[in-house]
Amino acid sequence: MTEVLVLIDAPDGKVTKPSLELLTIARRIGEPSAVVFGSADTDTLTQYGAEKIYTYDDAVYSEFLVGPKAEALAQLVTETSPAAVLVGASTEGKEISARVALKTESGWISDAVDVQASGDSVTTTQSVFAGNFTVQSSITKGAPVITVKPNSTTPEAAAGAGAVEAKTAEVSEAAKTAKITSTKVKEASGRPELTEAAIVVSGGRGTGGDFTEVEAFADTLGAAVGASRAAVDSGWYPHSFQVGQTGKTVSPQLYVANGISGAIQHRAGMQTSKTIVAVNKDDEAPIFELVDFGVVGDLKSVLPQATEEVKKRKG
Ligand code: FAD
Repeated sequence: MTEVLVLIDAPDGKVTKPSLELLTIARRIGEPSAVVFGSADTDTLTQYGAEKIYTYDDAVYSEFLVGPKAEALAQLVTETSPAAVLVGASTEGKEISARVALKTESGWISDAVDVQASGDSVTTTQSVFAGNFTVQSSITKGAPVITVKPNSTTPEAAAGAGAVEAKTAEVSEAAKTAKITSTKVKEASGRPELTEAAIVVSGGRGTGGDFTEVEAFADTLGAAVGASRAAVDSGWYPHSFQVGQTGKTVSPQLYVANGISGAIQHRAGMQTSKTIVAVNKDDEAPIFELVDFGVVGDLKSVLPQATEEVKKRKG
C-alpha cells in the first residue's frame, strides 16, 4: 500500500484532535506516515494508525516561520511519492501545504470536509458558498496535497507499526527569511478548543453583551463557547470565538445557539453539527428551521434552568 503523509500538529508534544482525524482519514487511502517537526507523543500517533513516524528535530523549524517546514516536507514528498499529503486546514497548515504543492508541482485542494480513495486517485469533498454547494474534486497532477477542516471525521484508534525514522532536510537560506521573534501563548480558559470541542454553546446579539449564562451552561457541559459575528462586532467576545463564514467552522456532537437568529453566514460555520439546539425568544427566528430541538424563550431564564438541571443530573 502507498504511504499517505500526514503533517502532525502537536503543541508541547500533545497531538491535536484534528491530527488524529487526519490519521483516521489517511487509513482510507493508504498507510499513514506521520510527519513531525519537533516532538510529538509517538505512542498516540502509533495508536491512531501511524505506520511510520518521520521526525525532524532541528531548531530551524521553530526559529523560522513556515519556510523550512515546507522545504523539508516537499523533499519528503519527492522521496516517498505518497498517495496524498494531508494537512490540517489551519493558517499555518494552508501556508505550508500550498508551498509544498508548488515546490513539488502537485495539485492543491483546501478546506476539504471529506477525503476518500477512488480507484488509484483520491476524491475530496468541499462545502462552498456558505455551505450551499458541495464540490467533489480530484487532483490529476503530482501528489494530491489536501488541507482538511477540523471535525471532518471522528478519530478512530487502530494500531499502526509506529516505526520512528529521524530525518534531516536541506533548508535553503531563502526559506529562513521570516524569523519568529516572539510567541504569545494564549491564556488558558480551561475550556476545550472551539474547533475540537464535542459540545459548543454559542451566544449572539440576544445575550445583550452578557455571556455569563452562556459560559455557565457551557462549563456544566464541558463545552467550548462560541459567538455570532454580531456579538464579536459589538466587542462582547473575541474574534477567535466567532463561528461562521468569516469565523471558525465547528462540527460538534451538540451545538447550542443562544440568542442567535440563524443567518446564512452563521449557519455556514455550524450546520454540520450532529445535534443542533436553539434558544430564541422569537418563534419565527430562522435558526428554528435548522434545529433538532428548539426552545422559545428568554435565554436569561432558560439557560440558568438548563444549567441547574444538568448539574442535578450529574449529581
Ligand atoms: P441577530 O441577527 O440580531 O439575532 C439575534 C437573535 O437573538 C434574534 O433572533 C432575537 O430574537 C434573539 N434574542 C434577542 N434577545 C433574546 C433573549 N433575551 N433570549 C433569546 N433570544 C433572544 N455572522 C456570524 O455569526 N458568523 C460569521 O462568520 C459571519 N460572517 C459574515 C460574513 C459576511 C460577508 C456578512 C455579510 C455577514 C456575516 N455574518 C456572520 C453576519 C450575519 O449575517 C448576521 O448578521 C449575524 O450572524 C447575526 O448575529 P446574531 O444572530 O447574533 O444577531
